[in-house]
Amino acid sequence: MQATLQPRDLADALAARAAHPGALPMAGGTDLMVELNFDRRRPERILDLTRVAELAGWDREGDELVIGAGVTHARLVTDMRGLAPGLGIAARTVGSPQIRNRGTIGGNIATSSPAGDALPPLVASGARIEMASASGARSVPLSEFLTGPKRNVMAPDELITAVRVPVAQGPQQFAKVGPRNAMVIAVCSLSVHLDAVEQTVRTAIGSAAPTIVRATEAEEFIEGVLEERGAWERPGPLPASALTRFGELVAAAARPIDDVRGSAGYRRHALAVLGRRTLSWCWQEHRA
Ligand SMILES: Cc1cc2nc3c(=O)[nH]c(=O)nc-3n(C[C@H](O)[C@H](O)[C@H](O)COP(=O)(O)OP(=O)(O)OC[C@H]3O[C@@H](n4cnc5c(N)ncnc54)[C@H](O)[C@@H]3O)c2cc1C
Repeated sequence: MQATLQPRDLADALAARAAHPGALPMAGGTDLMVELNFDRRRPERILDLTRVAELAGWDREGDELVIGAGVTHARLVTDMRGLAPGLGIAARTVGSPQIRNRGTIGGNIATSSPAGDALPPLVASGARIEMASASGARSVPLSEFLTGPKRNVMAPDELITAVRVPVAQGPQQFAKVGPRNAMVIAVCSLSVHLDAVEQTVRTAIGSAAPTIVRATEAEEFIEGVLEERGAWERPGPLPASALTRFGELVAAAARPIDDVRGSAGYRRHALAVLGRRTLSWCWQEHRA
């Protein structure tokens, strides 16, 4: 491997990406170094993005958050509270403190694993991915950016620069199932977001399909229940039967496989439980 490229700003990073198509971008290195250590990849160079200031921060533009690709999970945990709480909760479940201090939102998105914890809350929020190359910039919804397990629409000369996330208009939850409480890749995960202004419910399932999927029938079902009961205006308790049905519809939307982390049957069962739980947490918060 030849010398590492270390651009200091975005223009230099994009120029380096165009000039060295064989160079592999690296942010925190927490996914990439595993690939290199196991000899799964042997890039001719590394394009080190850690010095690119434009990627490192986040800002609020009106009703949207513009989160730089280089923002770490640790920062999402502290900074997204109240703004994009589902994303903050998900970031808190990533790896260990060391991994959260190094690993970035851009790396999670670029890896495009169905088990990437930042992805369900971002899909449930309707987030858009901003990409740039030396010849221009574009933005695509995350749901279209992800095309399969570890596959996405990013071109070889592009970098992810930021992710645009609508500011939360209601409670958001994320929960994941794994064999222990920390340092686990999700067996399955679920984000549920309530929008009290638009009176909508959004879901996104992780690690139980080739990519992140929404449970649209579950969303429509519970929106119908809430509307029928006038519950957005007069938020009373939700009937247990509605929570159970919501969980069943979440599980039905998954397309899980049997693998080393869990069977398809277990994933479906766990998603039904996560559906019930995360919706009831959100609803309790909305009522409070
Ligand atoms: C011990 C351990 C535990 C982990 N636990 C979890 C977990 O619980 N949940 C979870 O979701 N993940 C987990 N991960 C995976 C990893 O930490 C995350 O996916 C993290 O967000 C990756 O970010 P990074 O900055 O380290 O990416 P890197 O390793 O630097 O890069 C990952 C990929 O993204 C590309 N890339 C990075 N930045 C950009 C950019 N701006 N534009 C274009 N391409 C880019 C790289 O070329 C590479 O292909 C774990 C990893 C380890 C080693």
